[in-house]
Amino acid sequence: MRRKLVVANRKMNGSIPDNRAFMAGVVQGMRELRKIDCAICVPHPYLYQAQVLLADTPVAWGGQNMSRHEFGPYTGSVAPGMLVEFGCKYVIIGHSERRERGYESDDAAGERFEMALKAGLTPIFCVGETLSEFEAGMTDSVAIRQLNAVVDHVGVRGLAKGVLAYEPIWAIGTGKSATPEHAQTILAFLRGHVALLDETAAERLRILYGGSVKADNAAELFAMPDIDGGLIGSASLVTEEFLTICRVADAA
Ligand code: PEP
Repeated sequence: MRRKLVVANRKMNGSIPDNRAFMAGVVQGMRELRKIDCAICVPHPYLYQAQVLLADTPVAWGGQNMSRHEFGPYTGSVAPGMLVEFGCKYVIIGHSERRERGYESDDAAGERFEMALKAGLTPIFCVGETLSEFEAGMTDSVAIRQLNAVVDHVGVRGLAKGVLAYEPIWAIGTGKSATPEHAQTILAFLRGHVALLDETAAERLRILYGGSVKADNAAELFAMPDIDGGLIGSASLVTEEFLTICRVADAA
């Protein structure tokens, strides 16, 4: 039985006072929940604040991206070891908002995944298709291409040490979530693909759905057998809404 995971992707939002209120609220709410894991991924300048406020609580924290280099002349980048120094458990890799601006090829994302594992981080690896790819019936092939780039770097056992997130780009920040049936079909397909390589890894792998998960659609999404939780963007900007999603996951 896989434990559900709910992750807040705060993107480029927040401020010191706003983060303080959000983190305190999530910690308080999470103290009543026993069945799920929860994490908050913050912009890099707020990692120290997350470490101070979330250490020794049921809430983990993480970065939203990292360099594929250990150190060196990469102005503006953040090394995996730096995330570790600030106590991160997780790091988001391959988010579409990074892929779509050309910052991240499939191979570079696979390399980042490998570096994250080496540093002792748990990568949350995002896959998902654009609207035109969706309309062209390419959902499966795009997700498999992106996933195979990770398998090429770390093998299927390595993949299962991370978390996979299916995030259709047309559903991100649009308020138009995938239907639970669509999300379940793709997640089952992805798990099936991993099972062809290694059944134990497939059974173990946590796969999240992300894309306009809200308090009012979380229950039907989390009821699906292959959805092991959510990556939550906009709804993580409102403490009560994010906590409602956590409670729904805990009850699922
Ligand atoms: C995301 O960007 O990871 C995301 C899921 O965003 P939203 O929930 O706003 O669609």
